[in-house]
Amino acid sequence: MTARTHDIFALASLVTVSVYYPPQHLNLATLFAAMVACVVGSLAPDMDQGTNRLWNLLPGGDFLGKIFRRLFLGHRSLSHSLLGIYIFYQGLSWLLPKFLNAVYIDSRVVLAAVMTGIISHLVADGLTEEGLPLLFPFNFKIGFPPVSSWRIKTGHWFEKFVVFPGILIYLFYFISTHQTRLVQILRLVTN
Ligand SMILES: [Zn+2]
Repeated sequence: MTARTHDIFALASLVTVSVYYPPQHLNLATLFAAMVACVVGSLAPDMDQGTNRLWNLLPGGDFLGKIFRRLFLGHRSLSHSLLGIYIFYQGLSWLLPKFLNAVYIDSRVVLAAVMTGIISHLVADGLTEEGLPLLFPFNFKIGFPPVSSWRIKTGHWFEKFVVFPGILIYLFYFISTHQTRLVQILRLVTN
């Protein structure tokens, strides 16, 4: 999947998750941080590619990208597996409370948002021809549907003209059918 599809899929996932598992408290800084975290999470598994947009945001990103690509053990390996999700989760639940000021930002909400982004990335990649090495270090790839030729080709017309607009339609449909719940969540910000 392209970064654009990952972004929109992650946002649709975040809106959906927030309706079913609404936060108890929310302020504007946390809401903003959660949306950024979700998009960063949706791109993070592809940091194993030096071309990833996230590297461009960091000073010396090209150089860092080259080093980190090695740590990720090649494209679509560790960062696209259950073990990778576990490492991301453990690392971020340690890092976020240290890095975010608890007075302004609820790091648990941010953690939930970044994990939603990461998991949505893996779900989306699982629908592509290449499949996912979900059980890394075991090398076989898993995807849905199980026959790889039935799956989506990254960047192809089907992704651009069917998958991407399909996610947008879903997002608008979901927002319009869950308006009351979503407004309740947004009201938390003004309380
Ligand atoms: Zn990926």
